[in-house]
Amino acid sequence: MKQSLFFAKPSHHPPKEEISRSAQLLEQAWYVDKLFAGVYTYLPLGFRVLKKIENIIRQEMNSVGGQELFMPALHPIENYQKTKRDIVDILFHLDLATGKKFVLGFSHEEIIVPLAQRYISSYKDLPLYVYQIQTKFRNELRAKSGIMRSREFIMKDLYSFHATDEDFEEYYSIMQGAYSRIFKAAGVGEKTYLTFASGGTFSKFSHEFQTITDAGEDTIHLCNGCGIAVNDEIIKEQKTCPKCKSARLVAKKSIEVGNIFPLKTKFSDAFGLRFTNAQGVNKPIIMGCYGIGLGRLMGAIVETHCDKKGIIWPANVAPFDLHLLAFGDASVRKNANEAYEFFCKNGIDVLYDNRDVSAGSKMADADLIGIPLRAIISAKTKNLIELKKRSQETTQFLEPEKIITFIKSTHNEN
Ligand code: ATP
Ligand code: MG
Repeated sequence: MKQSLFFAKPSHHPPKEEISRSAQLLEQAWYVDKLFAGVYTYLPLGFRVLKKIENIIRQEMNSVGGQELFMPALHPIENYQKTKRDIVDILFHLDLATGKKFVLGFSHEEIIVPLAQRYISSYKDLPLYVYQIQTKFRNELRAKSGIMRSREFIMKDLYSFHATDEDFEEYYSIMQGAYSRIFKAAGVGEKTYLTFASGGTFSKFSHEFQTITDAGEDTIHLCNGCGIAVNDEIIKEQKTCPKCKSARLVAKKSIEVGNIFPLKTKFSDAFGLRFTNAQGVNKPIIMGCYGIGLGRLMGAIVETHCDKKGIIWPANVAPFDLHLLAFGDASVRKNANEAYEFFCKNGIDVLYDNRDVSAGSKMADADLIGIPLRAIISAKTKNLIELKKRSQETTQFLEPEKIITFIKSTHNEN
């Protein structure tokens, strides 16, 4: 992609009204555009990152048997009256032209449960795992952390249906593993902790995946020995590490990037979702739900991967593999154009800064945008290319072929 025509105009100044670093950087570098508080456009740069995150999640959900579908965002209010969630304060209400009352979905239990009922009748139809990557609407009181807490946001939500508690529990722990792999692949594995949270009235615990960052709105109490944590809301009833019982828990600010939740029979009961077991006994279905906010995760990645100059994307979720910068006269430009064509032909995803702006501006924008590898072609590089990792200060001079081999080897590692 040539930057001269790329739909992005990185600014030299962070937006004044944003507090969190990720909100500042993502807007400043043209990853997202704020339409109003809590509502965002994903611009081409941001959309590329979003798709990478989406694919990491999709791959893991498929690997644990998830079947992808896509449900509507517009929901009849009757479904919420059945679960008594029609009075939830974050629900957006609207009227159809016919006068019928609708809401914008903040979650999809009310849609998936009656749908699953059309399919499940016997134990032979279980277990069932379905998921989607879809837009949710929540009338959040405060939307102050950019795409980490928005009023319209994309969530992966998976719903599991089981015949027995044992079967549910087995799947729940499989999902814990899948979530750990997702957060590791997205580059926040080291800072993300499995956190014990309240399970409401239905079971003792649910679990959140909390990423440590000062921009977080939550506090978790971390057991350094076990690498697991307890949510602030349950620290009064759970004062020690749930695993090793240590009382030396350290409080940290964090953001919830995902959660897994035992629903037991709450929604099955509301809709009468039941099945007949092998003995012919009719029973309610046990359910679990499993969410990840894609924008929330993208914001958390930026919070944990930035410096004073800008973003430093982990390679797996970076918008491009390589940022190619050309400095100099027509002959340098010619070399750079050829290198660009060569990289593209070899399957490297390159953003090529061919704009008519100063070298200083190009470097500042490259640091802000944060593509993991920067390649410079200038009068002094001759037939080589000056390569620098965004995360390091050292540079090296390499042939274009070597750069391709290097990038492909990092692709294969992932
Ligand atoms: P929170 O406690 O942060 O308000 P929640 O517990 O209401 O979130 P869930 O309903 O379980 O969240 O949603 C699943 C996931 O969706 C969360 O783990 C988070 O990653 C994401 N998410 C929730 N609310 C938002 C939001 N307003 N903006 C962006 N992502 C969100
Ligand atoms: Mg929560």
